[in-house]
Amino acid sequence: MADRSTCLLLVIAPRLLFKFSSLQQLIDQGEFYSFAGCARIYSIKEGGRILEFIYSSKQFKTKGGITVGTATTHYYASEEFKIKQRETKSYICSPEEVISSGDYKQSTYCHLLLGLYFNDQVEFIASTFAFSIVQSFRSFEESWKDICNDIRDGTLSSKITIPSVRKAVLDIISVPNPSLAKRVISKCVELEEMDWFGLIPKLWPNAKYVYSIMTGSMQHYLTKLRHYAGDLPLVSGDYGSTESWIGVNVDPCCPPEKVSFAVVPTFSYFEFIPLNRSENEDGKSAIDDFIEGDPVPLSNVKIGKQYEIVLTTFTGLYRYRLGDVVEVVGFHRNTPKLNFICRRKLILTVNIDKNTENDLQLVVEKGSKILRKARAELVDFTSHAEVVKNPGHYIIYWEIKGEVEERILEECCREMDASFVDHGYVVSRRSNSIGPLELCIVEKGTFKKIMENFIANGAALSQFKTPRCTSNQVLLRILNLCTIKRFHSTAYGP
Ligand code: AMP
Repeated sequence: MADRSTCLLLVIAPRLLFKFSSLQQLIDQGEFYSFAGCARIYSIKEGGRILEFIYSSKQFKTKGGITVGTATTHYYASEEFKIKQRETKSYICSPEEVISSGDYKQSTYCHLLLGLYFNDQVEFIASTFAFSIVQSFRSFEESWKDICNDIRDGTLSSKITIPSVRKAVLDIISVPNPSLAKRVISKCVELEEMDWFGLIPKLWPNAKYVYSIMTGSMQHYLTKLRHYAGDLPLVSGDYGSTESWIGVNVDPCCPPEKVSFAVVPTFSYFEFIPLNRSENEDGKSAIDDFIEGDPVPLSNVKIGKQYEIVLTTFTGLYRYRLGDVVEVVGFHRNTPKLNFICRRKLILTVNIDKNTENDLQLVVEKGSKILRKARAELVDFTSHAEVVKNPGHYIIYWEIKGEVEERILEECCREMDASFVDHGYVVSRRSNSIGPLELCIVEKGTFKKIMENFIANGAALSQFKTPRCTSNQVLLRILNLCTIKRFHSTAYGP
């Protein structure tokens, strides 16, 4: 069986996709399922627009002549993407030049500008992952005056330097629209007073919902997304990967925290490796924190059990381990419905302790509740298990917005340390074989630097996910250089 790292060698590029039209069709099919569900429930107007924050990265050719790029990059460059817009009669606000500009700051500015230009036609707001919507509106808080000037005068800010993007955008907005600019300015002045609460319905009055993947590592952005969306419904997107689309959210009205995904059996051939946390009884090997059973087909999974997904795809991957842990929560007709639990390898561990991405998410949520009470906001976070010095300990890096007293941050640190319930961690903390949890506060913009580092190394913003646990030396260097305050937990004694 192959995992993501072995497939790296087999298919030339890791988590990048080689151009196979069947995959494009499958993504397209997946998008159609979700679009159809949402359109039915929220009655989308034909001929309307979608403000979609799309960023495709560069495609390149291998020596053998195969086009390589991320899944979304292929999809947005494909004929199917255009066909989908025509058939659903819903059009993206931004032209192709903006989507594929290769400069995320310029693309974001233009997405927002064009979204506002077409504001009363926008039927919904979307992105692949929720992170992109949140980061776009954060940047809007800073760039709205320039955007309004451009709408008023029919011009384009000098920040947009790519000639093809300038031409494509100016072709659309070159007629000055002072009355629209005036309306947007007065709304933004009001919104600024309210810390931008309800920005989306206020600026896009006909938007019916916000659509994006909001589960897994995206759950952290839900609070901010809800803040921007006010009372608009948040529809959590489907479950898929570059390697294969997997399942669809068949209940778009379900709150993102409760969403599960019905596997579409025709997307790939699916197998599931049973994962048990119990002690090893029959000589099978424990990998990470789980005891693995033999893979079972789709029809043999059991409700309440956790599995790792294995794919055999039309594009040539054979028994490929996706590395995602899912739980079967029911069936939709005869196909299983999955809850996404976590990425399997993302684990904080020093010795006998094991905490997954999901455990960390819960702990950080508890700590950030204290932050919210102090009227501050957790912008983003990641973690690292420091094992160089003895005893090892966990470090959690936080970027926050707002002024917070040190005693509050000390409390957050203590609360997070005390909230890890993994038995190995608790025992190790009590015996001091794991040292006090360290909370590092990083300066504003640190996570942007991390994202830019990924993009500079070929990742597409549309598919970017902040790693929730890292031992990557480049990232750790950025994080440590940007740390401005450190706190050590006193949860298990001074
Ligand atoms: P990529 O192929 O880089 O776009 O990433 C695919 C990975 O993103 C999957 O293997 C999951 O770990 C994660 N992912 C995709 N869709 C979802 C979802 N709906 N909920 C949670 N995680 C997801």
